[in-house]
Amino acid sequence: MSDKITMKTPLVEMDGDEMTRVVWAKIKEIVLDPFVDLKTEYYDLSIQNRDLTEDKVTMDSAMATKKYGVAVKCAPITPNAARAKEVNLHKMWKSPNGTIHAALDGTVFRAPILAKGITPLVPSWTKPITIARHAYGDIYSAVESKVPQGGKAELVVTDAEGNETRTLIKDFSRSDGIVMGMHNLDASIRSFAKTCFEYALDQGIDLWFSAKDTISKTYDHRFKDIFSEMYEAEYKEAFEKKGITFFYTLVDDAIARVMKSQGGFLWACKNYDGDVFSDMLATAFGSLAMMTSVLVSPDGYYEYEAAHGTIPRHYHKYLKGESTSTNPIATLFAWTGALARRGELDNIPELIDFAKRIEQVTIEAVEEGFMTGDLALISTVENKKVLSLDEFLKEVASRV
Ligand code: NAP
Ligand code: MG
Repeated sequence: MSDKITMKTPLVEMDGDEMTRVVWAKIKEIVLDPFVDLKTEYYDLSIQNRDLTEDKVTMDSAMATKKYGVAVKCAPITPNAARAKEVNLHKMWKSPNGTIHAALDGTVFRAPILAKGITPLVPSWTKPITIARHAYGDIYSAVESKVPQGGKAELVVTDAEGNETRTLIKDFSRSDGIVMGMHNLDASIRSFAKTCFEYALDQGIDLWFSAKDTISKTYDHRFKDIFSEMYEAEYKEAFEKKGITFFYTLVDDAIARVMKSQGGFLWACKNYDGDVFSDMLATAFGSLAMMTSVLVSPDGYYEYEAAHGTIPRHYHKYLKGESTSTNPIATLFAWTGALARRGELDNIPELIDFAKRIEQVTIEAVEEGFMTGDLALISTVENKKVLSLDEFLKEVASRV
Protein backbone atom coordinates (compact mmCIF):
# COMPACT_ATOMS: atom_id res chain seq x y z
CA MET A 1 0.00 0.00 0.00
CA SER A 2 1.24 3.48 -0.83
CA ASP A 3 1.23 6.15 1.83
CA LYS A 4 0.01 8.78 -0.61
CA ILE A 5 -3.03 10.87 0.28
CA THR A 6 -6.11 9.45 -1.38
CA MET A 7 -9.01 11.44 -2.77
CA LYS A 8 -12.70 10.58 -2.84
CA THR A 9 -14.28 12.77 -5.51
CA PRO A 10 -12.41 13.75 -8.68
CA LEU A 11 -11.31 17.30 -9.39
CA VAL A 12 -12.28 18.61 -12.79
CA GLU A 13 -8.93 19.16 -14.52
CA MET A 14 -8.95 21.59 -17.46
CA ASP A 15 -5.63 21.50 -19.29
CA GLY A 16 -4.52 24.46 -21.42
CA ASP A 17 -1.95 25.71 -23.91
CA GLU A 18 1.68 26.63 -24.53
CA MET A 19 3.99 27.35 -21.57
CA THR A 20 1.29 26.98 -18.94
CA ARG A 21 0.55 23.49 -20.29
CA VAL A 22 4.23 22.65 -19.72
CA VAL A 23 4.09 24.18 -16.23
CA TRP A 24 0.92 22.19 -15.54
CA ALA A 25 2.49 18.81 -16.31
CA LYS A 26 5.61 19.62 -14.29
CA ILE A 27 3.60 20.74 -11.25
CA LYS A 28 1.78 17.41 -11.28
CA GLU A 29 4.92 15.37 -11.81
CA ILE A 30 7.27 17.13 -9.39
CA VAL A 31 5.06 18.54 -6.61
CA LEU A 32 1.74 16.69 -6.53
CA ASP A 33 2.13 13.09 -7.75
CA PRO A 34 4.76 12.08 -5.17
CA PHE A 35 2.36 12.92 -2.33
CA VAL A 36 -1.21 12.59 -3.60
CA ASP A 37 -2.98 9.87 -5.50
CA LEU A 38 -4.54 12.47 -7.76
CA LYS A 39 -8.07 11.73 -8.86
CA THR A 40 -9.17 14.01 -11.69
CA GLU A 41 -11.61 14.01 -14.55
CA TYR A 42 -9.47 15.34 -17.38
CA TYR A 43 -10.60 17.80 -20.05
CA ASP A 44 -8.12 18.93 -22.66
CA LEU A 45 -8.90 22.59 -23.40
CA SER A 46 -5.88 23.00 -25.69
CA ILE A 47 -6.72 25.03 -28.77
CA GLN A 48 -6.19 21.92 -30.94
CA ASN A 49 -8.67 19.85 -28.97
CA ARG A 50 -11.22 22.65 -28.79
CA ASP A 51 -10.96 22.83 -32.57
CA LEU A 52 -11.24 19.06 -32.95
CA THR A 53 -14.32 18.82 -30.70
CA GLU A 54 -15.91 22.00 -32.11
CA ASP A 55 -15.43 23.49 -28.65
CA LYS A 56 -17.72 20.87 -27.08
CA VAL A 57 -14.93 19.98 -24.64
CA THR A 58 -15.18 23.45 -23.06
CA MET A 59 -18.89 23.10 -22.39
CA ASP A 60 -18.37 19.52 -21.14
CA SER A 61 -15.75 20.73 -18.66
CA ALA A 62 -18.15 23.39 -17.37
CA MET A 63 -20.91 20.78 -16.96
CA ALA A 64 -18.47 18.51 -15.10
CA THR A 65 -17.73 21.43 -12.75
CA LYS A 66 -21.45 21.61 -11.99
CA LYS A 67 -21.43 17.88 -11.30
CA TYR A 68 -18.37 17.71 -9.03
CA GLY A 69 -18.28 21.27 -7.67
CA VAL A 70 -14.54 21.99 -7.98
CA ALA A 71 -12.33 22.56 -11.04
CA VAL A 72 -8.73 23.61 -11.63
CA LYS A 73 -7.91 25.27 -14.94
CA CYS A 74 -4.71 25.86 -16.89
CA ALA A 75 -4.58 29.01 -19.04
CA PRO A 76 -5.84 28.39 -22.58
CA ILE A 77 -5.33 30.50 -25.70
CA THR A 78 -8.20 32.81 -26.58
CA PRO A 79 -8.01 32.77 -30.35
CA ASN A 80 -7.77 35.97 -32.37
CA ALA A 81 -7.32 36.24 -36.13
CA ALA A 82 -3.54 35.71 -35.96
CA ARG A 83 -3.88 32.62 -33.76
CA ALA A 84 -6.62 31.15 -35.92
CA LYS A 85 -4.19 31.26 -38.83
CA GLU A 86 -1.17 30.12 -36.78
CA VAL A 87 -2.87 26.93 -35.52
CA ASN A 88 -5.04 26.51 -38.61
CA LEU A 89 -8.39 26.61 -36.77
CA HIS A 90 -11.50 25.90 -38.74
CA LYS A 91 -13.38 28.47 -36.70
CA MET A 92 -12.46 31.31 -34.35
CA TRP A 93 -13.69 29.70 -31.14
CA LYS A 94 -15.03 31.86 -28.35
CA SER A 95 -13.01 32.61 -25.24
CA PRO A 96 -13.13 29.44 -23.10
CA ASN A 97 -13.26 31.65 -20.01
CA GLY A 98 -16.37 33.31 -21.41
CA THR A 99 -18.05 29.96 -22.12
CA ILE A 100 -17.29 28.56 -18.66
CA HIS A 101 -18.28 31.82 -17.07
CA ALA A 102 -21.63 31.92 -18.85
CA ALA A 103 -22.34 28.28 -17.94
CA LEU A 104 -21.57 28.71 -14.24
CA ASP A 105 -22.84 32.31 -13.93
CA GLY A 106 -20.04 33.20 -11.58
CA THR A 107 -18.04 36.03 -10.10
CA VAL A 108 -14.26 36.13 -10.49
CA PHE A 109 -12.24 36.81 -7.34
CA ARG A 110 -8.60 37.83 -7.80
CA ALA A 111 -6.14 37.83 -4.94
CA PRO A 112 -2.37 38.47 -4.86
CA ILE A 113 0.05 36.03 -3.24
CA LEU A 114 2.29 37.93 -0.82
CA ALA A 115 5.88 37.10 0.11
CA LYS A 116 8.42 39.09 2.13
CA GLY A 117 10.95 40.79 -0.11
CA ILE A 118 8.37 41.48 -2.79
CA THR A 119 7.13 44.80 -1.55
CA PRO A 120 3.86 46.17 -2.89
CA LEU A 121 4.22 49.59 -4.48
CA VAL A 122 1.89 50.81 -1.73
CA PRO A 123 3.94 50.22 1.43
CA SER A 124 0.95 50.02 3.80
CA TRP A 125 -0.53 46.98 1.99
CA THR A 126 0.59 44.18 4.26
CA LYS A 127 -2.41 41.93 3.58
CA PRO A 128 -3.89 40.90 0.23
CA ILE A 129 -6.66 42.93 -1.36
CA THR A 130 -9.09 40.67 -3.20
CA ILE A 131 -11.17 42.11 -6.03
CA ALA A 132 -14.54 40.73 -7.09
CA ARG A 133 -15.59 41.95 -10.51
CA HIS A 134 -19.22 41.82 -11.55
CA ALA A 135 -18.66 40.31 -14.98
CA TYR A 136 -22.08 41.01 -16.49
CA GLY A 137 -23.56 43.94 -18.40
CA ASP A 138 -22.86 47.70 -18.19
CA ILE A 139 -20.62 49.00 -20.99
CA TYR A 140 -19.49 45.44 -21.91
CA SER A 141 -22.86 44.74 -23.51
CA ALA A 142 -23.83 48.31 -24.35
CA VAL A 143 -25.14 49.62 -27.67
CA GLU A 144 -23.67 52.84 -29.01
CA SER A 145 -24.33 55.27 -31.79
CA LYS A 146 -22.98 58.42 -33.36
CA VAL A 147 -25.50 61.22 -33.55
CA PRO A 148 -25.17 63.92 -36.22
CA GLN A 149 -25.81 67.56 -35.31
CA GLY A 150 -29.50 68.35 -35.36
CA GLY A 151 -30.44 64.87 -34.14
CA LYS A 152 -32.01 63.93 -30.87
CA ALA A 153 -31.50 60.89 -28.62
CA GLU A 154 -34.20 59.50 -26.33
CA LEU A 155 -34.39 56.56 -23.96
CA VAL A 156 -37.51 54.57 -24.77
CA VAL A 157 -38.67 51.77 -22.45
CA THR A 158 -41.61 49.70 -23.67
CA ASP A 159 -43.39 47.65 -20.99
CA ALA A 160 -45.08 44.26 -21.46
CA GLU A 161 -48.37 45.98 -22.42
CA GLY A 162 -46.65 48.09 -25.06
CA ASN A 163 -46.73 51.40 -23.13
CA GLU A 164 -43.74 53.62 -23.83
CA THR A 165 -41.85 55.81 -21.40
CA ARG A 166 -39.61 58.33 -23.14
CA THR A 167 -36.77 60.26 -21.55
CA LEU A 168 -34.78 62.82 -23.50
CA ILE A 169 -31.07 62.06 -23.38
CA LYS A 170 -29.84 64.98 -25.45
CA ASP A 171 -30.83 67.37 -28.17
CA PHE A 172 -27.79 67.48 -30.43
CA SER A 173 -28.59 70.93 -31.80
CA ARG A 174 -25.13 72.45 -31.25
CA SER A 175 -22.82 69.65 -32.38
CA ASP A 176 -22.40 66.07 -33.58
CA GLY A 177 -22.09 63.62 -30.70
CA ILE A 178 -22.26 60.11 -29.35
CA VAL A 179 -24.74 58.14 -27.28
CA MET A 180 -24.70 54.82 -25.43
CA GLY A 181 -27.35 52.56 -23.90
CA MET A 182 -26.43 49.99 -21.28
CA HIS A 183 -28.26 47.70 -18.89
CA ASN A 184 -27.99 45.32 -16.02
CA LEU A 185 -30.32 42.72 -14.50
CA ASP A 186 -31.52 42.56 -10.90
CA ALA A 187 -31.01 38.78 -11.03
CA SER A 188 -27.36 39.19 -12.06
CA ILE A 189 -26.67 41.86 -9.44
CA ARG A 190 -28.23 39.59 -6.80
CA SER A 191 -26.12 36.59 -7.71
CA PHE A 192 -23.03 38.84 -7.75
CA ALA A 193 -23.90 40.16 -4.28
CA LYS A 194 -24.58 36.63 -3.03
CA THR A 195 -21.20 35.28 -4.15
CA CYS A 196 -19.47 38.30 -2.58
CA PHE A 197 -21.21 37.87 0.79
CA GLU A 198 -20.52 34.12 0.76
CA TYR A 199 -16.86 34.59 -0.22
CA ALA A 200 -16.28 37.17 2.54
CA LEU A 201 -17.84 34.80 5.08
CA ASP A 202 -15.85 31.84 3.78
CA GLN A 203 -12.56 33.79 4.00
CA GLY A 204 -13.47 35.74 7.14
CA ILE A 205 -12.69 39.13 5.58
CA ASP A 206 -14.57 42.47 5.42
CA LEU A 207 -16.55 43.29 2.30
CA TRP A 208 -16.54 46.69 0.62
CA PHE A 209 -18.84 47.56 -2.22
CA SER A 210 -18.37 50.73 -4.25
CA ALA A 211 -20.41 52.48 -6.93
CA LYS A 212 -21.47 56.03 -7.79
CA ASP A 213 -25.05 56.28 -6.55
CA THR A 214 -24.87 60.03 -5.91
CA ILE A 215 -24.53 60.66 -9.65
CA SER A 216 -26.32 57.60 -11.00
CA LYS A 217 -29.44 57.86 -8.87
CA THR A 218 -31.31 54.99 -10.56
CA TYR A 219 -28.68 52.72 -12.12
CA ASP A 220 -25.88 52.57 -9.56
CA HIS A 221 -28.41 53.14 -6.83
CA ARG A 222 -30.07 49.85 -7.78
CA PHE A 223 -26.76 48.04 -7.10
CA LYS A 224 -26.43 49.76 -3.75
CA ASP A 225 -30.02 48.90 -2.77
CA ILE A 226 -29.73 45.25 -3.73
CA PHE A 227 -26.51 44.84 -1.73
CA SER A 228 -27.94 46.52 1.35
CA GLU A 229 -31.31 44.71 1.19
CA MET A 230 -29.58 41.34 0.92
CA TYR A 231 -27.17 42.21 3.69
CA GLU A 232 -29.94 43.21 6.10
CA ALA A 233 -32.18 40.27 5.24
CA GLU A 234 -29.72 37.41 4.81
CA TYR A 235 -26.16 38.15 5.94
CA LYS A 236 -26.03 40.68 8.77
CA GLU A 237 -26.25 38.10 11.53
CA ALA A 238 -23.64 35.79 10.00
CA PHE A 239 -21.25 38.72 9.42
CA GLU A 240 -21.60 39.92 13.02
CA LYS A 241 -21.07 36.40 14.31
CA LYS A 242 -17.89 36.11 12.25
CA GLY A 243 -16.71 39.57 13.37
CA ILE A 244 -16.53 40.98 9.84
CA THR A 245 -18.22 44.03 8.35
CA PHE A 246 -19.91 45.05 5.14
CA PHE A 247 -20.05 48.61 3.98
CA TYR A 248 -20.96 50.58 0.91
CA THR A 249 -19.02 53.64 -0.14
CA LEU A 250 -18.68 55.86 -3.19
CA VAL A 251 -16.13 54.55 -5.66
CA ASP A 252 -13.86 57.60 -5.36
CA ASP A 253 -13.95 57.36 -1.58
CA ALA A 254 -13.16 53.63 -1.91
CA ILE A 255 -10.02 54.45 -3.89
CA ALA A 256 -8.83 56.83 -1.20
CA ARG A 257 -9.50 54.25 1.51
CA VAL A 258 -7.87 51.41 -0.45
CA MET A 259 -4.66 53.41 -0.87
CA LYS A 260 -4.48 54.13 2.86
CA SER A 261 -5.53 50.64 3.98
CA GLN A 262 -3.47 47.68 5.16
CA GLY A 263 -5.40 45.35 2.84
CA GLY A 264 -7.09 42.20 4.06
CA PHE A 265 -10.57 42.77 2.59
CA LEU A 266 -12.74 41.92 -0.39
CA TRP A 267 -13.55 44.80 -2.73
CA ALA A 268 -16.67 44.18 -4.81
CA CYS A 269 -16.56 46.25 -8.00
CA LYS A 270 -18.91 46.98 -10.83
CA ASN A 271 -17.83 45.54 -14.17
CA TYR A 272 -15.74 48.43 -15.49
CA ASP A 273 -14.27 49.34 -12.10
CA GLY A 274 -13.25 45.70 -11.58
CA ASP A 275 -11.63 45.51 -15.01
CA VAL A 276 -9.51 48.59 -14.35
CA PHE A 277 -8.74 48.21 -10.63
CA SER A 278 -7.75 44.54 -10.89
CA ASP A 279 -4.95 45.49 -13.28
CA MET A 280 -3.89 48.28 -10.95
CA LEU A 281 -3.78 45.90 -7.97
CA ALA A 282 -1.90 43.17 -9.89
CA THR A 283 0.81 45.64 -10.84
CA ALA A 284 0.98 47.25 -7.42
CA PHE A 285 1.30 43.89 -5.66
CA GLY A 286 4.30 42.97 -7.80
CA SER A 287 3.61 40.45 -10.54
CA LEU A 288 0.88 38.90 -12.65
CA ALA A 289 2.55 35.57 -11.93
CA MET A 290 1.62 36.04 -8.25
CA MET A 291 -2.09 36.62 -8.83
CA THR A 292 -4.67 33.88 -8.25
CA SER A 293 -8.12 33.82 -9.69
CA VAL A 294 -11.18 31.83 -8.69
CA LEU A 295 -14.58 31.76 -10.31
CA VAL A 296 -17.31 31.22 -7.71
CA SER A 297 -20.82 30.48 -8.90
CA PRO A 298 -23.90 31.42 -6.87
CA ASP A 299 -24.62 27.69 -6.56
CA GLY A 300 -21.28 27.17 -4.82
CA TYR A 301 -19.14 25.75 -7.66
CA TYR A 302 -15.47 26.77 -7.64
CA GLU A 303 -13.06 26.98 -10.59
CA TYR A 304 -9.44 27.86 -9.68
CA GLU A 305 -6.86 29.26 -12.10
CA ALA A 306 -3.89 31.61 -12.46
CA ALA A 307 -4.63 35.16 -13.59
CA HIS A 308 -1.91 35.18 -16.26
CA GLY A 309 -2.05 33.76 -19.79
CA THR A 310 -0.13 31.06 -21.67
CA ILE A 311 3.21 32.99 -21.67
CA PRO A 312 4.02 32.43 -25.40
CA ARG A 313 7.44 34.11 -25.25
CA HIS A 314 8.66 31.50 -22.75
CA TYR A 315 7.05 28.72 -24.78
CA HIS A 316 9.00 29.65 -27.89
CA LYS A 317 12.23 29.38 -25.89
CA TYR A 318 11.07 26.04 -24.45
CA LEU A 319 10.37 24.69 -27.95
CA LYS A 320 13.94 25.55 -28.92
CA GLY A 321 15.12 23.40 -26.04
CA GLU A 322 16.16 26.35 -23.86
CA SER A 323 15.48 26.35 -20.14
CA THR A 324 13.06 29.02 -18.93
CA SER A 325 12.64 30.67 -15.57
CA THR A 326 8.83 30.63 -15.73
CA ASN A 327 7.08 31.30 -12.45
CA PRO A 328 4.68 28.44 -11.60
CA ILE A 329 3.36 29.91 -8.34
CA ALA A 330 -0.06 31.18 -9.48
CA THR A 331 -0.77 27.88 -11.26
CA LEU A 332 0.48 25.89 -8.28
CA PHE A 333 -1.82 27.90 -6.00
CA ALA A 334 -4.73 27.16 -8.33
CA TRP A 335 -4.06 23.47 -7.63
CA THR A 336 -3.70 23.96 -3.88
CA GLY A 337 -6.88 26.05 -3.78
CA ALA A 338 -8.79 23.33 -5.60
CA LEU A 339 -7.31 20.47 -3.55
CA ALA A 340 -8.07 22.27 -0.28
CA ARG A 341 -11.66 22.91 -1.39
CA ARG A 342 -12.04 19.25 -2.42
CA GLY A 343 -10.60 18.26 0.98
CA GLU A 344 -13.15 20.45 2.76
CA LEU A 345 -16.09 19.14 0.77
CA ASP A 346 -15.04 15.50 1.15
CA ASN A 347 -13.73 15.86 4.69
CA ILE A 348 -10.11 14.83 4.01
CA PRO A 349 -8.01 16.83 6.51
CA GLU A 350 -4.71 15.42 5.13
CA LEU A 351 -5.52 16.88 1.73
CA ILE A 352 -6.27 20.31 3.21
CA ASP A 353 -3.04 20.18 5.26
CA PHE A 354 -1.03 19.13 2.21
CA ALA A 355 -2.41 22.04 0.15
CA LYS A 356 -1.64 24.54 2.93
CA ARG A 357 1.83 23.04 3.36
CA ILE A 358 2.64 23.50 -0.34
CA GLU A 359 1.56 27.14 -0.16
CA GLN A 360 3.62 27.72 2.97
CA VAL A 361 6.85 26.14 1.66
CA THR A 362 6.49 27.93 -1.69
CA ILE A 363 6.35 31.30 0.07
CA GLU A 364 9.22 30.27 2.36
CA ALA A 365 11.39 29.36 -0.62
CA VAL A 366 10.79 32.78 -2.20
CA GLU A 367 11.42 34.54 1.12
CA GLU A 368 14.72 32.67 1.50
CA GLY A 369 15.85 33.78 -1.95
CA PHE A 370 14.92 30.81 -4.18
CA MET A 371 12.88 32.26 -7.02
CA THR A 372 12.25 32.56 -10.74
CA GLY A 373 13.59 35.45 -12.84
CA ASP A 374 10.46 37.58 -12.78
CA LEU A 375 10.54 37.73 -8.97
CA ALA A 376 14.31 38.18 -8.80
CA LEU A 377 13.82 41.45 -10.67
CA ILE A 378 11.59 42.87 -7.93
CA SER A 379 12.59 41.02 -4.75
CA THR A 380 14.67 42.88 -2.17
CA VAL A 381 15.92 39.64 -0.56
CA GLU A 382 19.71 39.38 -0.42
CA ASN A 383 21.63 36.47 -2.02
CA LYS A 384 18.93 35.62 -4.52
CA LYS A 385 19.23 32.38 -6.47
CA VAL A 386 17.50 32.59 -9.83
CA LEU A 387 16.08 29.16 -10.60
CA SER A 388 14.66 27.59 -13.72
CA LEU A 389 11.08 26.34 -13.69
CA ASP A 390 12.19 22.76 -12.91
CA GLU A 391 14.66 23.82 -10.24
CA PHE A 392 12.05 25.95 -8.48
CA LEU A 393 9.48 23.14 -8.45
CA LYS A 394 12.09 20.70 -7.12
CA GLU A 395 13.00 23.22 -4.42
CA VAL A 396 9.33 23.35 -3.39
CA ALA A 397 8.93 19.56 -3.46
CA SER A 398 12.07 19.09 -1.35
CA ARG A 399 10.55 21.27 1.37
CA VAL A 400 7.23 19.42 1.63
P1 NAP B 1 0.66 36.31 -20.57
O1 NAP B 1 0.64 34.94 -21.11
O2 NAP B 1 0.17 36.49 -19.17
O3 NAP B 1 2.15 36.84 -20.68
C1 NAP B 1 2.53 38.19 -20.67
C2 NAP B 1 3.93 38.37 -20.10
O4 NAP B 1 3.84 38.40 -18.68
C3 NAP B 1 4.90 37.26 -20.42
O5 NAP B 1 5.51 37.42 -21.66
C4 NAP B 1 5.86 37.35 -19.25
O6 NAP B 1 6.77 38.43 -19.39
C5 NAP B 1 4.94 37.72 -18.10
N1 NAP B 1 4.42 36.53 -17.38
C6 NAP B 1 3.13 36.15 -17.28
N2 NAP B 1 3.03 35.06 -16.52
C7 NAP B 1 4.28 34.73 -16.14
C8 NAP B 1 4.84 33.70 -15.35
N3 NAP B 1 4.05 32.75 -14.80
N4 NAP B 1 6.18 33.66 -15.14
C9 NAP B 1 6.97 34.61 -15.69
N5 NAP B 1 6.50 35.61 -16.44
C10 NAP B 1 5.18 35.69 -16.67
O7 NAP B 1 -0.25 37.27 -21.49
P2 NAP B 1 -0.37 37.42 -23.10
O8 NAP B 1 0.95 37.20 -23.71
O9 NAP B 1 -1.09 38.67 -23.29
O10 NAP B 1 -1.35 36.25 -23.53
C11 NAP B 1 -0.92 35.00 -24.08
C12 NAP B 1 -2.11 34.06 -24.33
O11 NAP B 1 -2.75 33.78 -23.09
C13 NAP B 1 -3.18 34.65 -25.24
O12 NAP B 1 -3.58 33.67 -26.18
C14 NAP B 1 -4.33 34.97 -24.34
O13 NAP B 1 -5.56 34.78 -24.97
C15 NAP B 1 -4.15 33.96 -23.22
N6 NAP B 1 -4.65 34.43 -21.92
C16 NAP B 1 -5.40 33.57 -21.18
C17 NAP B 1 -5.82 33.94 -19.90
C18 NAP B 1 -6.63 32.98 -19.08
O14 NAP B 1 -7.11 32.01 -19.56
N7 NAP B 1 -6.79 33.21 -17.80
C19 NAP B 1 -5.47 35.19 -19.37
C20 NAP B 1 -4.69 36.06 -20.15
C21 NAP B 1 -4.29 35.65 -21.42
P3 NAP B 1 8.24 38.29 -20.05
O15 NAP B 1 7.99 37.85 -21.46
O16 NAP B 1 8.76 39.68 -19.92
O17 NAP B 1 9.01 37.28 -19.27
MG1 MG C 1 -8.42 44.86 -17.19
